[in-house]
Amino acid sequence: MSSVKRFAWPALVLVVLLIAALPLPDFWITQLNYIALYSLVGLGLVLLTGVAGLTSFGQAAFVGMGAYATAWITLNTGLSPWLTLFIGLAITGVSALIVAGITLRMSGHYLPLATIAWGLSLYYLMGNLDALGKYDGLLGIQGLSILGWEVGQGRGFFLLAWSVVLLAALAILQLLDSRAGRAMRSLRTGTQMAEAMGVNTLRYKIIIFVIAALLASVSGWLFAHFQRSINPSPFGLKMGIEYLFMTVVGGVGHVWGAVTGALLTKLLEDQLQVLLPKLIGTSGSYETIVFGIVLVLTLKFLPNGLWSLVERRLPRTPRRLDWDGVAPLSERAKPATGELVLDVQAIRKQFGGLVAVNDISFQIKAGQIVGLIGPNGAGKSTTFNLITGVASLTRGQVVFRGDSISGLKSREIAARGMSRTFQHVKMIPDMTVLENVALGAHLRGARGVASAMAGLNRMEERQLFREAQTQLERIGMGAYLHEQAGNLAMGPQRLMEIARALCSDPALLLLDEPAAGLRHKEKQGLADVLRQLRSEGMSILLVEHDMDLVMDVCDHLVVMEFGTRLTQGTPEEIQQNPQVRAAYLGTEH
Ligand code: ADP
Ligand code: MG
Repeated sequence: MSSVKRFAWPALVLVVLLIAALPLPDFWITQLNYIALYSLVGLGLVLLTGVAGLTSFGQAAFVGMGAYATAWITLNTGLSPWLTLFIGLAITGVSALIVAGITLRMSGHYLPLATIAWGLSLYYLMGNLDALGKYDGLLGIQGLSILGWEVGQGRGFFLLAWSVVLLAALAILQLLDSRAGRAMRSLRTGTQMAEAMGVNTLRYKIIIFVIAALLASVSGWLFAHFQRSINPSPFGLKMGIEYLFMTVVGGVGHVWGAVTGALLTKLLEDQLQVLLPKLIGTSGSYETIVFGIVLVLTLKFLPNGLWSLVERRLPRTPRRLDWDGVAPLSERAKPATGELVLDVQAIRKQFGGLVAVNDISFQIKAGQIVGLIGPNGAGKSTTFNLITGVASLTRGQVVFRGDSISGLKSREIAARGMSRTFQHVKMIPDMTVLENVALGAHLRGARGVASAMAGLNRMEERQLFREAQTQLERIGMGAYLHEQAGNLAMGPQRLMEIARALCSDPALLLLDEPAAGLRHKEKQGLADVLRQLRSEGMSILLVEHDMDLVMDVCDHLVVMEFGTRLTQGTPEEIQQNPQVRAAYLGTEH
């Protein structure tokens, strides 16, 4: 932890204790209690929307689940609220799993729509069940107490609720800065890159959805015992939209944005409810209109929310490189030089009537750089995608290190030791170079969400970062460790992708146009890197347009045209080949 963070947590705890000790009017303590309850829901939305890019209007329904579960069970069975908390969490968790399992497979706007449907249906369910008191709800819910100490109201509840908020915030911050967290943060930019790094993206999306629902459920549990009575209205779609609204205004990309949003929304709401009727002269919920305007203005002028104003001013301390002497990650057994690594056997891809890849065959041996070249539209990228499992074969077979990998998912192929880069760089722009590269070692770690939240992953984290640093230094990027990836120029970005691919300890590296957009000098640097990797025994498949680079570094070339293999051979043979000169090199000049 950096020194700023070391002082930040005790300071936060102190602030909470201080507020509880100060002679503030009870009204303010009550407001702060509601802000804590909203913040908890917002924390879930930070993960869901800010981190994973998923939108949910249905969080209020999960709050309702937690609230109704504890209310009904404590009223009807006399069980302790501390037990019903977990029953509520279990019910919410299972429901969230079902909703997520059905909707997260579908892309686009299915999830937001599904959460709206979910929010609506649960609201009417709560309002129509006799056992839940219909729209009147449930009354006479008991307050909370810890070992005889009443924490149901006022300052006791304040301390309880804000402890929960701080703990949840700490857990989420630790999660985001972990192996699992880096995988989660990669979701917002699509799933292709993460899957190629071996991340099961659907699994992480489901986990995030469930965590967000559980946080909402805890908020509902606290709410029920704080208010002592519940009815369906705070759990309807309108509130679901409001939760999203306040978190976006506060800053959905950051944990403290959730608290900022809850704080400002509640304070603004209170002020407006008093102020607006005075200004306008009639009463009515005009604050909704003002909120709408605030939302639009925030999105326009502060798309990252209000917290971003604060965050910008916080000092950035680089990660401490504290992995000296940490055991290196274990490496897979590599093929011996000259051994057959990749055997592409008459692979074919048809898009409707178009044969994009027409029975292409070639081989790569360990320690070889093979270039795949051909004019635009020749089918190189499609071939690349067939080998890496991004696209499915129409027919033919790909054999990697002796086993057929046809039909395997791209993350399963990655697990077998094939790693790739992308024609259009795919990265997490707001993470450092070191963190981006560490994502490449995802499959070499095992620590999951729970151990990250509890901070039990430190040793493995050091190992992963040690590997990331090693790979960055291996390709001459040692000076960029703490740069924010999004600030890099094209050349270093492409090298960063290569380091990330190397982090997975691959036996075969596939590079899709690594020289695109590079300056002359950077291309020479890249050629040196490729030659160095080969000298260390790496096998490489290179799709590249730059003929100088290709002729310079490749041992073997495969030339494609209109989906078909035109010819193959050494760079010298290809340069002499009249067919190639006509079909390809001729058109270049
Ligand atoms: P290259 O990478 O050599 O420029 P591609 O593999 O991208 O070529 O494309 C080969 C051919 O397949 C092109 O005619 C392209 O339009 C077509 N193609 C590629 N992907 C798809 C797709 N998803 N659906 C339909 N046609 C595609
Ligand atoms: Mg292409």
